[in-house]
Amino acid sequence: MYTVQHMTAFNAELRRKINADKGRIDAFYYCPHFEKKNLPEDTKMCSCSKPLPGLLFEAAEDFQINLAESYMIGDRFTDIEAGIRAGCKTILVKSGASIVRSDETTVEPDYITENLLEAALIIKGEFV
Ligand SMILES: [Zn+2]
Repeated sequence: MYTVQHMTAFNAELRRKINADKGRIDAFYYCPHFEKKNLPEDTKMCSCSKPLPGLLFEAAEDFQINLAESYMIGDRFTDIEAGIRAGCKTILVKSGASIVRSDETTVEPDYITENLLEAALIIKGEFV
């Protein structure tokens, strides 16, 4: 969709803005491989492309994260499926768009929210 260089510049700006608001991003993870739909013939799918949970396992190892006590937040059902496969609680964020269920997944998130703020309040136990 875009180059690693563009992604790195975007992530650096995102981190700068979040740091300026006293937030913190410990790491960015991404899958550099083909999505399933674009996979060349005779090529095996990687384990880091969602809905597979490889990147969640990698982050869990890097930061000693207890996945069962963690939330996977995403705006696609492939995000939710990856979270479920990793044993996380899951929140599907609508982000102003209508939710489109991808072809193959039948998973259900633990929560559906209108935006990221609502998801954060659920995690804090403050959403009513
Ligand atoms: Zn990958």
